[in-house]
Amino acid sequence: MSGKGGAVAPPAAIGFIGLGQMGIPMAQQLLRAGFEVKAFDAAEAARANFQAATGTAAVESAAAACRDVAAVITMLPDGKIVRDVLCGAGEGALAAADPGTIVIDMSSSSPIDTRALAAALEPRGFALVDAPVSGGVKRALDGSLAIMAGGETGTVERVRPLLSAMGAAVFATGPLGSGHAMKALNNYVSAAGLVAAAEAILVGRRFGLDPETIVDVLNASTGRNNSTEKKMKQQVLSGDFASGFSLALMTKDLHTAAGIARDAGIAAPLAQVCEDLWAEADTKLGAGADHTEIYRFLAGLQGGDGEAS
Ligand code: NAD
Repeated sequence: MSGKGGAVAPPAAIGFIGLGQMGIPMAQQLLRAGFEVKAFDAAEAARANFQAATGTAAVESAAAACRDVAAVITMLPDGKIVRDVLCGAGEGALAAADPGTIVIDMSSSSPIDTRALAAALEPRGFALVDAPVSGGVKRALDGSLAIMAGGETGTVERVRPLLSAMGAAVFATGPLGSGHAMKALNNYVSAAGLVAAAEAILVGRRFGLDPETIVDVLNASTGRNNSTEKKMKQQVLSGDFASGFSLALMTKDLHTAAGIARDAGIAAPLAQVCEDLWAEADTKLGAGADHTEIYRFLAGLQGGDGEAS
């Protein structure tokens, strides 16, 4: 049911724009829950991947994803692209949507962009919720993402059944933009933890410690974090560097987090260092690098490749 003002629940039709690493498994959860999904991506390969993964054909335009749906979800690289797709060049894809359609931006966008988008959508009769996610591809695949939803309370509650189809925990974080602010801050903590763990391994290796032992000890000790548990052996020491989250996107999130601190006039020296470090790594490693390759960048600063010498 998705009656006007009612909960957005199966079998309501949902538009889903952005079928990348995260978008496909998230849209797949909606199909499994019984929603009708009108999915679109600008890349033909992404549309083909969606069909291969779900057995459902993607639609041919962003406007088609917005037509006759209760809500439109965006899962795109950043907030500027979200605005471009929804409102760009004339009226954007939302010209095809009925007033009252709820827009849910699940991308990791900047909260400043989000508030500007809401100001553009409101006069056209569209409510906006920012509902970014954490947990990566693995938790998108099993529908257990953490979701942080900002927006008007009644609207967040209307879309809770929809969000719950993709996430194990849906937090109402407060007013519009608060979800995106929370997400950027989460990724700052995550990125700082990854750098700390990578540096510890590089230093420990040079000291003669076995890298697997370093990770085992950290995981049994107070230095444990998400990266020591889920990334160091699995992505870094294995040499896989294939977590499904790009270094470029993490760099964007750090820019957002440090920018929030700057806007608020709050000194956040470690966030600033992280922002600069990841920007340098992004420039050095180039497009396509996985975020776990920050280890390779740090190893390069010592003139090595991070292998035991
Ligand atoms: P991705 O690069 O794999 O996918 C983005 C998709 O958007 C691509 O398929 C691309 O073709 C499409 N796209 C770009 N411009 C478009 C346009 N104008 N119109 C239609 N489609 C367009 O990215 P991702 O890893 O899926 O991440 C998506 C968002 O989720 C980002 O904001 C990211 O920061 C965030 N995020 C990613 C992860 C992760 O682990 N990958 C985890 C949490 C949050």
